[in-house]
Amino acid sequence: MTTEEWNNWSGSLRFTPERIETPQTEEEVCELVRQTADAGGTLRVVGQGHSSSPLVQTDDVLLSLEEMTGVESVDADRHQAWVRPGTNIEQLGEELLDEEMAVHNQGDINVQQIAGAIGTGTHGTGDTLGNLSTMLLGVRMVTADGRIIERNIEDDPDFIHAARVSLGTLGIFVGLRIQAEPAYKLHRQEWCTGVEECLDHLDDLIEQNRNFDFYWYPRSDEVKIRTLNPPGETPELGYAELQKENIDWAPRNLSRQRMLKFDEMEYSLPASDGPQAFRRVRDKMLAEHRRDVGWRTLYRTVAADDAWLSTSYKRPTVTISLHHNASLPFWKFFNDIEPVFHSHDGRPHWGKKHNLRADRLATLYPKFDDFRRLRRQLDPDGVFLSDYMAELLGER
Ligand SMILES: Cc1cc2nc3c(=O)[nH]c(=O)nc-3n(C[C@H](O)[C@H](O)[C@H](O)COP(=O)(O)OP(=O)(O)OC[C@H]3O[C@@H](n4cnc5c(N)ncnc54)[C@H](O)[C@@H]3O)c2cc1C
Repeated sequence: MTTEEWNNWSGSLRFTPERIETPQTEEEVCELVRQTADAGGTLRVVGQGHSSSPLVQTDDVLLSLEEMTGVESVDADRHQAWVRPGTNIEQLGEELLDEEMAVHNQGDINVQQIAGAIGTGTHGTGDTLGNLSTMLLGVRMVTADGRIIERNIEDDPDFIHAARVSLGTLGIFVGLRIQAEPAYKLHRQEWCTGVEECLDHLDDLIEQNRNFDFYWYPRSDEVKIRTLNPPGETPELGYAELQKENIDWAPRNLSRQRMLKFDEMEYSLPASDGPQAFRRVRDKMLAEHRRDVGWRTLYRTVAADDAWLSTSYKRPTVTISLHHNASLPFWKFFNDIEPVFHSHDGRPHWGKKHNLRADRLATLYPKFDDFRRLRRQLDPDGVFLSDYMAELLGER
């Protein structure tokens, strides 16, 4: 147990919890939850601390499962595995490769814990690829009364659809059963071109590449296109200059390291609104923010899914992310662009900066009330509800 200031990856979120606990066993997690509940306290579980919204902020108990890592067991025939919650995506990738398996996609980085990445619906890019929470088939979870329950999609699909993106408010994942795939390689290519050339070919780029996204640079008004495809299925882009390429196992090629600290606002929009929304963001940035913001804007696609609080719930999705130095006044820039996202019924990334709360979120998520009902059943006394989470979900 320690007491110290905690900060997230970018440093924009800082707080001092009453104590930080790092249990090593599921029984210790149960005991900590029971103690907290008996004392009338609250407990938030943290993953790798890469969210910059205050999901894990608490003045009471902060629980880290960083000691509970690794693949527990595999079902080689079905390409499934039970995984401990603190396993980070990189470690997961290597352990699954040992079993000749791999996950279907990853985000831009691979340092998040699997429980944290699933818990916020972290996604990569690819219009046929769901976010990482779609891998979740079953959970072992410590509930607010300190018991362990297990639920699987075959027996209780609603529970799993609620649990997939549950932001640590239904219970604490201590085991996650995930669907993977046979191990596969990807040919990664990075291209440079003009923004209009990219937008002119956008539909083809999305349809013809397994993973496609682009970064737009406001200062040069140019874009970097990234494509990943099975070796031998690479695209010909006559209008773009190939700058880099390599082939490797998918888990080693989907993500990259990020050294420069930034903060980020990202919204998920209906896929059909993507190009128009991007043009509006670009126009506004060129007109008003180009002097102050050199950071690139990222455009990605995500398949629709069934997780109640997934930003892609029942909606083929385009995501647009704004970035700015963590040490610079990013709110001014984010607050100015955010209304563009709102006008397209954008759903904010749960783990990034945004200003939405329950009243608006309830209109964006058809299953918001069902989620709240289940949360109240599982945690009637709000053991997992901090002030921010109560406000976010409209729970008191
Ligand atoms: C540099 C950088 C790059 C990023 N790239 C992407 C990207 O490409 N795509 C994308 O979608 N997002 C991206 N993100 C956002 C990031 O993936 C999410 O914020 C993710 O949730 C962080 O995982 P974490 O392990 O740090 O979890 P945390 O931020 O620590 O926690 C996230 C949530 O998960 C919950 N949680 C953690 N552990 C458990 C558990 N055991 N049981 C139940 N709930 C739990 C927490 O309570 C919290 O609500 C990026 C963030 C950064 C800083």
